[in-house]
Amino acid sequence: MTEYELRYIKTGTVPSRGDLLLQGGDPSEVRAGPVYVFYTKTAKEVVLIDTSFHMDDAKILGVEKDVTRKLPDEDPLYALKQVGVEPEDVTHLILTHAHFDHVGYLDAFSNAKVFAHQKELAWIAGLPAWSIGYGSFSVEKIERVRAQMTVIYGERAQILPGIEVVYAGGHSAGSMAVVVNTKKGRVCLCGDNCFLYETIEEHLPIGLTNNLYESLAFMEKLPALGDILIPGHDPLFFDRFPNGVVA
Ligand SMILES: [Zn+2]
Repeated sequence: MTEYELRYIKTGTVPSRGDLLLQGGDPSEVRAGPVYVFYTKTAKEVVLIDTSFHMDDAKILGVEKDVTRKLPDEDPLYALKQVGVEPEDVTHLILTHAHFDHVGYLDAFSNAKVFAHQKELAWIAGLPAWSIGYGSFSVEKIERVRAQMTVIYGERAQILPGIEVVYAGGHSAGSMAVVVNTKKGRVCLCGDNCFLYETIEEHLPIGLTNNLYESLAFMEKLPALGDILIPGHDPLFFDRFPNGVVA
């Protein structure tokens, strides 16, 4: 089985309320959630997982004052360039879900095959007004990459040997986790069904979920999904994996 070197770039922070991060959390507590973007390079492929947020989309959602981005270092395309990845080098782009802090630069990688779950695509086609974290830009960006899109159906799919997506739902209609085989074992990028390590290690479910039962079912699966489990937006991630390297 191919072993990938899994790395990440830092691209800023997004705000999240305590009650959205965790069930029963404090709604008056707002924490800054880091937005890290994972990538892996081989001789032939560059795989990117999500694309962070775009400032224009943050403005549309009215959260431009609440997000942070240190420029130029945390500009996603600049940060990728610093680690030797040009937009046209990306061959595979996995979208865990279409919230604004994941879909921002989706249309910047013209040579990439884009992978998204059918349930997420169906959901954003008829977004209810109460949907937090989406905007019309989610739909527009998906439309711009239609020709590049491989739609994922069902529970699991292999993207490349040693890289797999697993349907989670819950946090969003078509949320997916990504499992990457590395020399330290299988790393599961849990996505936003686990914003924080508390969900993985203390079994506290997230607050922001379309379907709490799916979020709970996904938590049950975690031990089988990976040897190393990585939450979606936890500042502790940088303490455990400093210097841009996961495994
Ligand atoms: Zn999300």
